[in-house]
Amino acid sequence: MPKKKQIDPYVCPNCGTKVEKAQKTWQLVSPLPDSYGRITITVMGSFVCPNCGHKWKSVVSKIKAGGSSVEIEGKKGVKKIESKDSEEKANEGEVIELDLSDLDEDEEE
Ligand SMILES: [Zn+2]
Repeated sequence: MPKKKQIDPYVCPNCGTKVEKAQKTWQLVSPLPDSYGRITITVMGSFVCPNCGHKWKSVVSKIKAGGSSVEIEGKKGVKKIESKDSEEKANEGEVIELDLSDLDEDEEE
């Protein structure tokens, strides 16, 4: 597996200040399914640094949905949720909120 450079989307690229949460998040849905027939939903966030005022956008997480499982790729790694194993969902610590009303906005910027 190639080693990916870890970039924390919550750290200001200008001064390195850790930001608690994104000002705004939205989803970009890839229209093309991957080799498993899953659709990739990229969750983007816009951030404003409380220290220096720098603004930036970054990928907060990626969700792969479809087939028999859902894969959530976030800063803590990739989580795979098998749909037949419903107990595992309840044990997931990190909750990623999806605002489905944003999906229709088709916001690129
Ligand atoms: Zn900053």
